[in-house]
Amino acid sequence: MPNKYPILGFQLENSYQNLPQSLFTKIRPQSFPNPQMLMFNKQLASELGLNGNPEDYTPYFSGNEILPNSEPIAQAYGGHQFGHFTVLGDGRAILLGEQISASNKKLDIQLKGSGRTPYSRSGDGKATLSAMLREYCMSEALHFLGIPTSRSLAVLATGEPVFRETPQHGAVLTRVASSHIRVGTFEFARRYLPIEDLKALADYTLLRHYPELFATENPYLSLLNSVIEKQADLIVNWMRVGFIHGVMNTDNMTISGETIDYGPCAFMNNYNSETVFSSIDTQGRYAFGNQPKIAQWNLACLAGALLPLIHSNQKIAQDMASKAIEDFQTLYENKWVRMMGHKLGIFEQKPSDSILINELLDWMESNKADYTNTFVFLQNNTLPIESIYQKPDFVTWHSAWQKRIEEQTQSKEEANELMKQNNPVVIPRNHLVEEALESVSTASSFSLLQELLKVVQNPYSQNTISDKYLFASEMHDLNYKTYCGT
Ligand code: AMP
Ligand code: MG
Repeated sequence: MPNKYPILGFQLENSYQNLPQSLFTKIRPQSFPNPQMLMFNKQLASELGLNGNPEDYTPYFSGNEILPNSEPIAQAYGGHQFGHFTVLGDGRAILLGEQISASNKKLDIQLKGSGRTPYSRSGDGKATLSAMLREYCMSEALHFLGIPTSRSLAVLATGEPVFRETPQHGAVLTRVASSHIRVGTFEFARRYLPIEDLKALADYTLLRHYPELFATENPYLSLLNSVIEKQADLIVNWMRVGFIHGVMNTDNMTISGETIDYGPCAFMNNYNSETVFSSIDTQGRYAFGNQPKIAQWNLACLAGALLPLIHSNQKIAQDMASKAIEDFQTLYENKWVRMMGHKLGIFEQKPSDSILINELLDWMESNKADYTNTFVFLQNNTLPIESIYQKPDFVTWHSAWQKRIEEQTQSKEEANELMKQNNPVVIPRNHLVEEALESVSTASSFSLLQELLKVVQNPYSQNTISDKYLFASEMHDLNYKTYCGT
């Protein structure tokens, strides 16, 4: 039911609680004596229909007060972490409820870093200010790049220290997502709950994300296929902009197809498919170029969890699910070639385009070319003189590409426009993200972060942007490490 007494624009529902009780635990967020609102996303607030001033939300987003219609819960889930199954759940996140937005969408409002829950295991349930600002910055960047993602509505300092290797400022992030149902939620239900509960979860998910699939012959197989399609689109988008999620465990993969759980994520500067920044990913399982393969692996876990719903005959269910998973590869590759074609101004793909694309990527890898800027140089015809772009192998590739553009029925201008829509001019460069976060933690200054946010909110703009935002710091990435769960 919508809120009877809307406060500050909140119209909360708690529909997840209609599901079997093993899927969640009711819990109050911890309160903090001296919270301070540091970041408030006004644009997102207005999309959500929230009409108060930022400070008005401090009591609710710190967890100190509970909104009248909010029945906070932590959600249960499991997940394959680096290939091994573990029982997890919201160890430091609490769902306040589902906001019915201005455009009538149902969106989870969740606090992250709001204290321990029954799923915290040995964790403290807390989050550092630096990690929550990082999530704010990266999730907003992805959103403005046009990539489905959870959003960041607010970051509050808790006023309490959080103990990591050194004491750090504590914070709570208010996260907004179309839901927090994960592949790992289904794995949890399949392993530990009766089939009726698994079915209830699947039906809830269908209703919330894919209601049109109830009318199909086999809604649960259709659910699997739709998630496969959504995830293929998502990974293709990550590959388009050089995003490395860093910890693609099944508990960090959503059924909605949104990017979620910004931990050790980063953007790649020089093109190298083996790029890894995460401190714990020593084997490169979640390296840039492995992301599609890992997505398929994760989707196979989802397929396994859905089997008893897909068909009562196990063999038939397995055959149907296996086919869906095997098809991911072709589906993904077709989408990827199409996307890479668009980055090069190619409208309709033909088989030889894969060669043209892979030749460029191989060349970029051998020459340590910047992934973002190479496409920008190509689209703007601003290949730097006295640079790697004047080498004979690149010149040869360039004329083959020009020929390919010229043989299209569309004009060169139209091809150029297509490139501009698909190639970001600016991404949140690792050294700038770190510099901005450093400036908050050492000098309590938000100006670098605000500036960076402003720039990444317009990633395709052709307006002049300061050089500072356009280039990698050459030495920075050599020792760059990103961290989980800080
Ligand atoms: P993540 O790597 O952030 O996806 O988290 C994996 C699991 O660890 C999830 O169940 C999180 O809720 C949990 N977790 C991460 N950090 C903490 C923490 N500081 N306290 C409690 N649980 C945590
Ligand atoms: Mg997670």
